[in-house]
Amino acid sequence: MRAVVLDSDGRPRIGEAPAPTGETMRVLACGLCGSDVEKIGRGAEGTVLGHEVVARRADGTRVVPIHHRPCGACGRCLAGHESTCEAFAAPTIVPGGFAQEIAAADGVELPDAVDDPTGTYVEPLACVLRGAERLPRGRVLVVGHGFVGRLFAAVLTRRGDEVFATDTIPERTGRTPDGPVDAAVLCAPAAPLEAVRPGGAVLVFSPAAPVDLGRVYRHELTLTGSRSATPRHMEEAAALLPELDVPRPVVLPLERFAEGLDLYRSGRALKVVFTP
Ligand SMILES: [Zn+2]
Ligand SMILES: [Zn+2]
Repeated sequence: MRAVVLDSDGRPRIGEAPAPTGETMRVLACGLCGSDVEKIGRGAEGTVLGHEVVARRADGTRVVPIHHRPCGACGRCLAGHESTCEAFAAPTIVPGGFAQEIAAADGVELPDAVDDPTGTYVEPLACVLRGAERLPRGRVLVVGHGFVGRLFAAVLTRRGDEVFATDTIPERTGRTPDGPVDAAVLCAPAAPLEAVRPGGAVLVFSPAAPVDLGRVYRHELTLTGSRSATPRHMEEAAALLPELDVPRPVVLPLERFAEGLDLYRSGRALKVVFTP
């Protein structure tokens, strides 16, 4: 089958990959995520990236396969840190979403109101919903107003927070804070702790920049991390997605992967989705 496969230098190439054996699902769309881009140039030869997938089951239903599954029973799962569960690392989308087919897997059904490309937002939105549970309500600063930052802004606005947003790309910056905020969520490698009021909270949601721990100490800030999602958040995201105001993706055929990657990396596209 056709797929985007990493070569021996970790570069993505459109080519052929072995189709998964057993029951399969046809991929309808797969979103390009920052975590995919991080693996380019580093991933093992033969890797097929892509985990923000919409696929069609043999019975015709459209599903978003669950990306990683925690055991639900270990101490870390019970403490709410499911993404650190031993079982979580095992791949559930085989071989990967930038391909024509994947092995049949558990998934959440996509509402009819959501088209295939937008359906790829269920996975990142699920990660955002889980992160938002760790953010206190009030005045919240979103640091990094790209695609994930906008999902955060949409979710936080909907729940009644006063949302501010900054970005290193001037055109992406939203409403800048007019005073100290109660909390900040870091969706980019920056940590403007000076924007957070004493006693406030900071959620680390991306590979991070160095943090001024002296300020955490003096201002009694609470630092929390959140990475990835759980099956429960995937269900919630699928139900919420039709009600959210989210950016439109750039949709390209898989053959134009290199062009889509360039659009994303250069910041000219907030989100790129490929259709095989
Ligand atoms: Zn992702
Ligand atoms: Zn577990």
